[in-house]
Amino acid sequence: MRIGVPRESVDGERRVALSPESAGRLVKSGIEVAVEGGAGVPANFPDEAYANAGAAVGSAEATWSADVVVKVQKPTQAEAHQLPRGAILVSLLPVATSADLLAQLAQGGVSVLGLEKVPRITRAQSMDILSSQATIAGYKAVLIGAAEMGKILPMLTTAAGNIPPAKAFVLGAGVAGLMAIATARRLGAVVSGFDIRAAAREQVLSLGATFVGPEPQADAEAAGGYARAQTEEEQRQTMEAMARHLREQDLVVTTAQIPGRTAPRLISAEMVGSMRPGAVIVDLAAETGGNCELTQAGATTVHHGVSIVGAVNLPSSVPHHASLMFSKNVLTLLQHLIKDGGITLNLDDEITGPMCLVHDGSVRT
Ligand code: NAD
Repeated sequence: MRIGVPRESVDGERRVALSPESAGRLVKSGIEVAVEGGAGVPANFPDEAYANAGAAVGSAEATWSADVVVKVQKPTQAEAHQLPRGAILVSLLPVATSADLLAQLAQGGVSVLGLEKVPRITRAQSMDILSSQATIAGYKAVLIGAAEMGKILPMLTTAAGNIPPAKAFVLGAGVAGLMAIATARRLGAVVSGFDIRAAAREQVLSLGATFVGPEPQADAEAAGGYARAQTEEEQRQTMEAMARHLREQDLVVTTAQIPGRTAPRLISAEMVGSMRPGAVIVDLAAETGGNCELTQAGATTVHHGVSIVGAVNLPSSVPHHASLMFSKNVLTLLQHLIKDGGITLNLDDEITGPMCLVHDGSVRT
């Protein structure tokens, strides 16, 4: 069996799906690995590292004609045409915006495992790409915010005067949010957090941050540990509490998401207008519509002196470690799938079943 690792072609994507170390593990277990020349370079994995690990570094064709192709971003339609009938594609693949691609892959006899669909069960935790990449995003969001601010985060007592610590607020305390809280604390800010899930409240407190906003409801958590959408009344109460708290903040990181929906709108333009000039909002929900009314995905907007950063694909901006984690997740998934040197997809399996988006000529979403 041969596993192909093509270069990522999406603009700005610097991650690679398989690190040299993971490639080496597969090679040791008797699997051939073909890596397109330069595929790991943006993530600081030179071709020689793959070659030293026993992978064949070569042309794009050699990777696209493999039995299994692993990628970070979904392929373009032209790339997908190169996949042979019977091949398995493993990549991120947002179902809601990929109907044509999925139909094309089904027609081409390709099977597809979508990495967003790794089930959130203990057994699959080490394959959970959404979590590993959210960890990186939460960390980087704080660094971006800190760099954008006209203030420093820690308290200073110096001969040149005393500086109070900055106030940071993290809205949405899931995987990314908790990492943002931990990072802002390490940088010396006074940190607060909010989430609608009761479990998140304890996690915020355990990181040494304060919890603000309405008491989480016991029924706010849906399947897989995700939040359910709030009712209009609940959302109104949340926004009211946020409005008071936001006025005091220097750095706000928002991460609130509801799977399969547009992000909840929790910060209005009016609320931004009441914030301190020089404050920064880094909106990690920018790609799904934004938690702030003024967010523009991929751009920074300034309103009444407050900068709103519409953060997009932050994991790609930390390509080395994001790729190492992505690759470890992919390796664990492949090790789960490979039996006797080959892969037969078992759709009754509790991990493979939910991840399988295309199989046997049909789209399964
Ligand atoms: P996510 O990216 O879907 O959402 C981010 C956060 O936003 C969540 O904590 C959510 O509760 C919160 N949120 C949604 N609506 C909100 C609102 N109106 N106001 C404030 N906050 C709001 O979620 P995620 O971070 O990927 O994961 C959430 C949780 O899932 C984790 O904290 C964890 O408990 C669980 N999880 C379980 C596993 C596993 O068992 N394998 C893996 C990963 C995560």
